[in-house]
Amino acid sequence: MDTCPHCNSAKLRKHGLARNDKQRYFCPDCRRTSRPAPGTNAYDEARKAEILRAYQERTSLRGLTRIFGVSRQTVTAWLKKSPAVAPAQPDAGPAATG
Ligand SMILES: [Zn+2]
Repeated sequence: MDTCPHCNSAKLRKHGLARNDKQRYFCPDCRRTSRPAPGTNAYDEARKAEILRAYQERTSLRGLTRIFGVSRQTVTAWLKKSPAVAPAQPDAGPAATG
């Protein structure tokens, strides 16, 4: 829920778009305009790191979507932006246990 950053009112109305195509809001209570806080629709960095770590631990993309409720496309986009996070490789060679 978007609230006014100036007076915390929840009565924000859409007020056109800013130059960068971000939605602007107008607050009828304090009569000021505002933009939604960056990251309103984004995952915060801590959560992102947690999800990427789970991916490194061989959690499948499908598993991530179920566990974290994050879209597969989102995770894929993160991986492209995070070259340090390499896809987990399965162990080569047969497992000789027993
Ligand atoms: Zn306000």
